[in-house]
Formats: sequence, structure tokens, C-alpha cells
Amino acid sequence: MRALVWFRSDLRIQDNTALHHACRTAGRGVIAVFAICREQWIEHDWGNAKADFVLRSAVALSTALEGLNIPLRIIRAARFEQVPEKLLSLAKRHACDALFLNREYEVNELRRDRAVTNLFEQHGRTVHAFDDQTIADIGALRTGTGGWYTVFTPFKRRWCETLKAQGIPQMWPEPRRQDDTGIKPQAIPTRLEDFTGECFADSWPTGERAAHHRLTAFISNSIDEYHELRDYPAIDGTSTLSPYLAAGVLSPRQCLHAALEANRGRLDSGKTGATTWISELVWREFYRHVLLGYPRVCMGRPFKLATEGLTWRDDKERFAAWCAGQTGFPIVDAGMRQLAQTGWMHNRVRMIAAMFLTKDLFVDWRWGERYFMRHLVDADFASNNGGWQWSASTGTDAVPYFRVFNPHTQSRRFDPQGSFIRHYVPELVDVPAERIHTAHGRLAGLDYPPPIVDRRNTRARVIGAFRGVHGPQ
Ligand SMILES: Cc1cc2nc3c(=O)[nH]c(=O)nc-3n(C[C@H](O)[C@H](O)[C@H](O)COP(=O)(O)OP(=O)(O)OC[C@H]3O[C@@H](n4cnc5c(N)ncnc54)[C@H](O)[C@@H]3O)c2cc1C
Repeated sequence: MRALVWFRSDLRIQDNTALHHACRTAGRGVIAVFAICREQWIEHDWGNAKADFVLRSAVALSTALEGLNIPLRIIRAARFEQVPEKLLSLAKRHACDALFLNREYEVNELRRDRAVTNLFEQHGRTVHAFDDQTIADIGALRTGTGGWYTVFTPFKRRWCETLKAQGIPQMWPEPRRQDDTGIKPQAIPTRLEDFTGECFADSWPTGERAAHHRLTAFISNSIDEYHELRDYPAIDGTSTLSPYLAAGVLSPRQCLHAALEANRGRLDSGKTGATTWISELVWREFYRHVLLGYPRVCMGRPFKLATEGLTWRDDKERFAAWCAGQTGFPIVDAGMRQLAQTGWMHNRVRMIAAMFLTKDLFVDWRWGERYFMRHLVDADFASNNGGWQWSASTGTDAVPYFRVFNPHTQSRRFDPQGSFIRHYVPELVDVPAERIHTAHGRLAGLDYPPPIVDRRNTRARVIGAFRGVHGPQ
């Protein structure tokens, strides 16, 4: 049997379920393929940072695969609809009898994979699909009544119980070198039409070695203090592994095993730093579970259906100020500028910026979701949608709709010295810590805008709007 392995959001050779099984069973060599779907990527709001990171990761993958004697071939299909035919013709050309892939859970991706499977089966080829994106089998985690979880804490409890009962999923061994097929790898373009090409490449080096280096450094230097430092954007207290997890350069199992090693094998006891970090990996799994159970979130719809009745403000001007980091709220502007300048934003600031857009400006969360997708190097549908809907109170947050962050209070609490603000908002570099959180041009004669919104009535306004659609809570 000759295997064709289709790489998508799993751009690595280590601990890759589909690749492992293909290498173990193929007798006449393995061929790899990656599909460039430019129009589909644009439609899915891929930005320059994400597209560049993925293409560079595919280059690194190709080199790693060469070491296993597996050539990486490229197909170009503008949209997913064209993928099945192109993939089949590649399989025919290179006499591949079976296709191996790791599942993706977004709606268009599921449809595409169904079409591929049907076509391959019609042409006498088998398709082997695996769950590899998560540590637990997220489709099998169900409530006592067989439903999908809608709240994180019980989901996490079940996640831990299941892993303890079934054992922690092991990592796959390094695949063995394959028989030579005589087929050559194909060059991967570094720049695509409508994308700018290299984007933040120095900050986000690709390849498995770079990812493992980051993981090891985080485990050695930061995981023990993670629970104390993770909320302070001026401190490098988090792993910055999200782009690697999103593109699958690193597997979540590899992350979990590294954390367990630092915590003497304990999943939810032992060192608080390690268990808090493991919880974040579970958040990632929770949002994939929500996507599987409630595919409507993948079609622009809110998780809480009643919130479809909200009339968001069509305020393009304030939205533009938010995008540009010119809201006059220093912590929000610092975060938005961090995103523009690095392709990444600290989690605490993502929440503050998202809550500001949806609660203070009352702008539709989908506008912010799209903007983040287009700019984040770690853009990941499930986590981004989950984070946005949580912030907008249209999602799975167990706290009812009155969770409204005050950006000034958040700023004083999580950037007390104003160091993060000063780094990204140089107009405020000389403002002392006690005034920086509320500083603006009118007050201090600075070249920095006054607040674009008077937030004195925010809370009452938001509660009024949500009460209108939900009724009193
Ligand atoms: C509005 C909003 C949008 C977001 N968009 C994305 C996105 O597009 N892609 C993305 O990967 N994350 C997203 N997140 C989640 C989170 O902000 C990032 O995963 C995190 O900041 C990445 O930094 P890190 O790798 O240093 O995380 P760490 O703190 O080191 O956490 C380890 C890993 O756990 C996962 N993780 C951590 N927090 C979360 C979370 N709240 N939800 C889901 N997974 C989490 C990530 O894979 C992360 O790399 C979003 C959060 C919000 C509030």
C-alpha cells in the first residue's frame, strides 16, 4: 500500500497521528500533500501573519519530511470545492491507495472532508481519518444526559476524570524512514497573491525545533509562576505557543506531557502553575467541543440564540478607532497596537479589548472577531470565536450578561506601573504610573486622543440591552 498523507493544521512530523499510522502501514512508500487554498483562506479571514506562518511552517515540514524520505507535494485549489478532484488526481498520478488525515472540526472543513472521502471511496481508495487536534476525544465527552457541555468547569471536570480513567494519551513514536518513491518534493511559495509575504518572521520562527525550544524554555523558566504572572501583559509570563498549536507545529499532547513532567505526573493537583497552564489547554479543547456540538457558531451565529435579538451599533468610526489603537483608553490601545506590531496579543488584553468593543462601544462581536482573525498569527477559529463570544456575553460564559470589565480598573490591576502601555503607546511614555491608566490628550496636553466613549452609563446600557432580549436574570 502506498499512503498519501494530507497535512492541514498539523504541520509536524513528531506525534502526528495520521502520519504515524501511514508510516506504520505503508509498504510502498508515503507521499505527503499540502493544499494552498488562497480564495478560501481569504474568505476564512486569514491575514498576512497567519498565511505567512503557515507557509513557512509548511517549508519546515517539507524539510523534516525529506529526512523520512517522504516528498511533500503541493496542490493549489482556489476553494475547498476544488480540493477533492485535485487530491484524487494526485493520488492516481502517484499510485496512492489510501489517504490519511487528521480531522478538522469547522463546518466548511468537515464538508470538504466528506466530499473527499466520498470521491476517494468511489474510486476504490480508503480514507483513514483520526482525531489528533485535542488531547481528549472531545466528541465523546458528554454530560450525564448525553448532551454537549455548555459550561467550562463541568467540561474540565469530565475531561480530567476521563483522562485519569482511560490513561493519559501517549505521544506517537518518531515515524520510521520510508522506502524511496523517486518522487521529488515541490517548492512551497513564500508569497501568495493578496498576501504580503514575510510577516513577523523574526518573532515567530517556524519548525518543530523552534516550537520545542519555546516549550522547553517555558517549562524550565516560567511554568511554576504561570498562575501568578499570566495576567500581566508587561511580563513574559505565558508560553507564546499559540501560533504553533494553531498550525499544529506542536501537538497539545506534547504540551501536556511537558507540563506533567514538571508536575510529577499530576493532572489537577500539585503545582498551581502547571495545573493552571493545563487548564488553558483544556479551554482550547472546550471551544473545539462547543464547535462540534453547536456548529452554528461557525456560521456567524451566537451560541446564546436569544442574543440574535440585540441591535448592535453600526458605528464604523469608533470601530476604526478601536482597530487603530486610538480609543483614548490606554490599555485598549496598547493591546491593539501590540496586535498590529507583533501579530499577537496578551490574553488579558484580548479580553479587555474585546469587552471594550462589545460592551462599551456596543459594536457587533463579529466585527472584532473578524479583525482578530485577520491580524493574529495564532488565528484559530474555535479559540477566537469562543473568546469573542465569551467577551460579548453571547457565548458560553457561565456568568450572566452583566460581566462588564472596566478598562481603567483592569489597567491599574494588571499593568500597575503602566509599563505595557508605555511600550506600545509611546505618546504616554512620560506620564507617571498613577495617571497613565486614564491619561488622554485633553488633560495632559499629549498627542493622544480623548476617550471616544463616555463609559459612565455603559453598564446600565448593556444590562438594559441584554435584559431586552433575555428578560430579567
Ligand atoms: C477575544 C479573544 C480572542 C482569542 N483568539 C484566539 C485565537 O485566535 N487563537 C488562539 O490560539 N487563542 C485565542 N485566544 C485565547 C488566548 O488569548 C490565546 O490562546 C493566548 O493568549 C495565547 O498565548 P500563549 O500561547 O502564551 O498562551 P498560554 O497562556 O501559554 O496558554 C497555552 C495554550 O493554551 C491555549 N489557550 C490559552 N488560553 C486560551 C483560551 N482562553 N481559549 C482557548 N485556548 C487557550 C492556547 O493554545 C495557548 O497557546 C483568544 C482569546 C480572546 C479573549
